[in-house]
Amino acid sequence: MTAIAKEPYFKVRRSKVHGRGAFATRLIRKGARIAEYVGDRISHEEADRRYESKADNDNHTFLFIVSRSIVIDGGVGGNDSRFINHGCDPNCESVIEDRRVFVEAIRTIKPGEELIYDYSIGRDDDDPENVDEIYACRCGAKNCRGTMLWPAKRPKKRAKKKAVKQGARKKAARKQAAKKK
Ligand SMILES: [Zn+2]
Repeated sequence: MTAIAKEPYFKVRRSKVHGRGAFATRLIRKGARIAEYVGDRISHEEADRRYESKADNDNHTFLFIVSRSIVIDGGVGGNDSRFINHGCDPNCESVIEDRRVFVEAIRTIKPGEELIYDYSIGRDDDDPENVDEIYACRCGAKNCRGTMLWPAKRPKKRAKKKAVKQGARKKAARKQAAKKK
């Protein structure tokens, strides 16, 4: 695969979409590898433990699922790729290769354009009712699904197993994922 260019492809500044964002500093060709999503490599349990106490209405997540056993915490030892925002009409995608995560351009990106990929944050059985509000997306794209979560629609509630005591399960931290192809 192509290496990441030494000259950075983007800089971080305030974004209309969400907090700070990453903006192209030059023309980026389709297929270019823009950045590696790095950070502390931890277990899912450790990720949940770290962000367990995070308020329910805090919609920031720097966690990225690499595999069933590894999560990258971009909030610890991460780089500027953690500022790339979610959007429903993305110009980038996250790619997992050899248990590393890369952000690549899926079309030509002009200088000044904000870099966007789909966070595809997973749903969980014990999500709060207003989870789509908390993770609301206002990216402004025509096809905006209104939420950073994927799948877009809330699945029908499965009957909870009686064996699982209420509250016995720890709250899982919200994690980004690469979109399944
Ligand atoms: Zn959107």
